Amino acid sequence: IMVGTGKGAENGILIKNAEALETAHKLTTIIFDKTGTLTKGKPEITDIIPIIGDEKEVLKYAAIVEKGSEHPLGEAVINKAKEKKIKIPEANSFKAIPGKGVEAIYNQKKIILGNRLLMKENKLNIGSFENKVKELEEQGKTTVFIAADKKILGIIAIAATLKEYSKEAVEQLHKMGKEVIMITGDNERTANAIAKQLNIDKVLANVLPQDKEKEIKKLQKQNKIVAMVGDGINDAPALAQADLGIALGAGTDIAMETGNIILIKDDLRDVITAIDLSSYTMRKIKQNLFWAFIYNVAGI
Ligand code: ADP
Ligand code: MG
Repeated sequence: IMVGTGKGAENGILIKNAEALETAHKLTTIIFDKTGTLTKGKPEITDIIPIIGDEKEVLKYAAIVEKGSEHPLGEAVINKAKEKKIKIPEANSFKAIPGKGVEAIYNQKKIILGNRLLMKENKLNIGSFENKVKELEEQGKTTVFIAADKKILGIIAIAATLKEYSKEAVEQLHKMGKEVIMITGDNERTANAIAKQLNIDKVLANVLPQDKEKEIKKLQKQNKIVAMVGDGINDAPALAQADLGIALGAGTDIAMETGNIILIKDDLRDVITAIDLSSYTMRKIKQNLFWAFIYNVAGI
């Protein structure tokens, strides 16, 4: 076990306990989070569609409400606003709504930015924009709405590029006979578009942070041995519930605290290396036990 964990560390795979090393080779199912895990943590705004006002105005409001956000999508908005040299005024009572979006008060107006769910909760009708949104989502873009004072101001599409080795990792896992699942809080169309590029077997979309853990439990009830690979705060409960939690080194502290294995290099192929390392280590342990028995039997 010590040699195994040592070898892991040399290769940028931190294994926190012996149990993790014992579980890894038994896995049947690997679940990946989408945003920040399969895709890069630095998404970019690709389209701004103003409904009221112009592009700059929409972006300004978006930046106001995302200023206090730690979400990668928030960062994308702020970066774009900075690029366009937009001064971002301060807002009040900022609130993040996990899995849905953000809201804040500015100039006595309530500004909200987020997905369909958030708009629905605020009783905003987005039916007339569905076609445009569909089109963007089919391209694998995450689409959010921004509204101020109960009026939709615009639509923003954000695209995240796939990580360099995501595809290769999925391919190799398939070769090993593992089932590969993607889990995300994002909508189904965007999730499917990304999953298709990666050849992923199954997509669990629209999963709120507190439900990621439940999805893992469901799979475990089907006698599957499940690894969760994630980076975010919203992945932490799932990382804890999975038989093996694998956190990305570039992820949030809480994910790294919860995971049993940490991939320092942020390279998803290391999931395979960890599984291989586990099988070699277990094989060595069994060999050593075998020879110890022979020796003892001979001795007796
Ligand atoms: P994932 O599970 O893929 O990591 P999240 O649960 O963090 O995704 O977010 C799910 C969805 O909620 C996003 O796709 C987006 O539509 C919306 N959302 C959450 N936070 C924000 C934010 N700060 N700004 C814009 N949209 C957000
Ligand atoms: Mg994430």
